[in-house]
Amino acid sequence: MSQTLQHTVLKVVVLGNAGAGKTSLLQQYVNRRFTGQYTATIGADFLVKMVQLEKQTVTLQLWDTAGQERFRSLGRAFFRGADACVLVYDVTDQCSFSALTSWLQEFTIEAQIREAEQFPFMLIGNKVDLEHRCVQPDSARRWCSSNLGMPYLECSAKQAINVADAFHHLANLALARK
Ligand code: GDP
Ligand code: MG
Repeated sequence: MSQTLQHTVLKVVVLGNAGAGKTSLLQQYVNRRFTGQYTATIGADFLVKMVQLEKQTVTLQLWDTAGQERFRSLGRAFFRGADACVLVYDVTDQCSFSALTSWLQEFTIEAQIREAEQFPFMLIGNKVDLEHRCVQPDSARRWCSSNLGMPYLECSAKQAINVADAFHHLANLALARK
């Protein structure tokens, strides 16, 4: 069996309004758990996950906010050297959807992205397990078409719907550009 020694680390930044479910998505993806507790991330700046892609194994460095997103005070280190960006909104929270444009803008500026069209972005509509959704998939797809044509996935961190697929897809996009 041949094995490649080359190892790639990909920095993935996760952004979106407080409460959208960023920490829950990461906990579901990395630790396969959903606690339902509203906890601010403390301690490490990022979570690490190894993923086996078609051609090689990569290490994802998944950067979560520690509650600073409320005050829009994420430091430069958060954005520096990002290889991919996940934008998250809550399908039951119109505000979190309306805020996407400014999160995208902040990321593009702070991470100093030159060719945004080529950069691996993804939009996640989270909490699809809830019945009272207020943002329809069509609106999200329209937003994506007018914002770099980024891919869109609907997820539930609670029921582990599409979570691994979303990060896997993004990892492939990021690796292709590395
Ligand atoms: P963050 O501020 O973006 O990191 O959001 P959190 O991950 O802390 O989640 C905010 C709240 O939404 C918490 O009470 C979570 O339990 C809840 N939550 C997160 N993801 C889901 C989901 O997929 N479905 C449901 N029903 N609740 C969720
Ligand atoms: Mg959080």
